[in-house]
Amino acid sequence: MQRTHRIRLYPNNKQASYLARSCGCARFAYNWALARWKELYELHLENPALHPQPNQYGLRRELNSIKRTEFPWMMEVSKYCPQQAIINLGRAFDNFFKHNGKYPQFKKKGQHDSFYIGQDQFKLDKSLSRAWIPNLYKFMGGRRELGWIRIAEPFRYDGAKIVCATVSRTADRWFIAITCELPDVEAQPKPHVANPKTVGIDVGVGKYVTSDKERASVPRAYRSRMRKLRREQQALSRKHRGSANYAKQKQKVARLHAKIADVRGDWLHKLTCSLTDSYDVLAIEDLNVEGMVKNHHLAISITDASFGEFRRQLEYKAREKQCELVVVDRFYPSSKTCSKCGHVKTKLALSERVFTCEECGYVIDRDLNAAINLKRHAVSSTVSACGEFFASACSPSKGSTQAASAKQEEIIKLLQ
Ligand SMILES: [Zn+2]
Repeated sequence: MQRTHRIRLYPNNKQASYLARSCGCARFAYNWALARWKELYELHLENPALHPQPNQYGLRRELNSIKRTEFPWMMEVSKYCPQQAIINLGRAFDNFFKHNGKYPQFKKKGQHDSFYIGQDQFKLDKSLSRAWIPNLYKFMGGRRELGWIRIAEPFRYDGAKIVCATVSRTADRWFIAITCELPDVEAQPKPHVANPKTVGIDVGVGKYVTSDKERASVPRAYRSRMRKLRREQQALSRKHRGSANYAKQKQKVARLHAKIADVRGDWLHKLTCSLTDSYDVLAIEDLNVEGMVKNHHLAISITDASFGEFRRQLEYKAREKQCELVVVDRFYPSSKTCSKCGHVKTKLALSERVFTCEECGYVIDRDLNAAINLKRHAVSSTVSACGEFFASACSPSKGSTQAASAKQEEIIKLLQ
């Protein structure tokens, strides 16, 4: 199993300009290879016998043979910068041919700037918290001691075999993502837990509620910064393209976007970590996030609530910590069922934030009721599927012929 730890880099001005140059080389190689790919493909269409289909291996060979004479500045940076960029282009085409992505586009300066470092050119100095960036020392004046850049925290998987590293820029900050190889946890299943601690989690646009009455309010990372973002973007549109002020304002907008992502990420990571640490079995509802985001009225609230990312993190953290994640079918009526007697209401208005059962008279908070139902559902399904560990989706419950999921309907109504 491969895991990546992304750490902030603290380069000084000169080091940062070397990093920017490396990104530039990677971008140039990518764009060069894409243009060349298009040319070769035209030739291939004209005369398939003489010109084979272009591929990344051929393009890498071609660039290697000409870079010394045609692009001598490319020799300043690590050989991995142009090489990996072309490998990435090959992957992009593979995905495109498999109908897994769009046709590759030319890269723009300042968007997803990054470059790759192979394991043989990368080093970490644990005692001094610094990372070795290949060829940097030459750029800095020749002394090998100058090839190191300070990192913000120690590498989390100390001792693991490092596979590669990728340096990237977000707004005005630099990061290094170090990938390493860890032993597979799936190979060693968790010893059977007699009484697994189970929790149901009801996710909402305003808050997440667990069946143990814990609630976490969603930080409205984007919505709370929308006005500020709009103001900064308007200011950017009034600046002269290519001027210093334009560049400065662009940085401001980029920093704001990064801030939004950071606020969301911080909240989600803490939440998913604490959930997977405290429980053995976690039950969540299977939401159609893609479908919901397509609705423009919902997009902001849904992306702020990060349903998709929440599930992705729960999935991988559950696997890593050997918890079971039960994904309850999206047509299971978690809100409309009474968690005490099991009575299913035919109607439940959204304004009813408190659930009152007509059958047994039970009164409970609406979201808590849903979370408890999810937990119940998980307990019954794990008993039947004994031994089946790790992310298992329940089979659709009977009568699941409704057009939209109950949750989706609920959220749509909430926002209208
Ligand atoms: Zn009841």
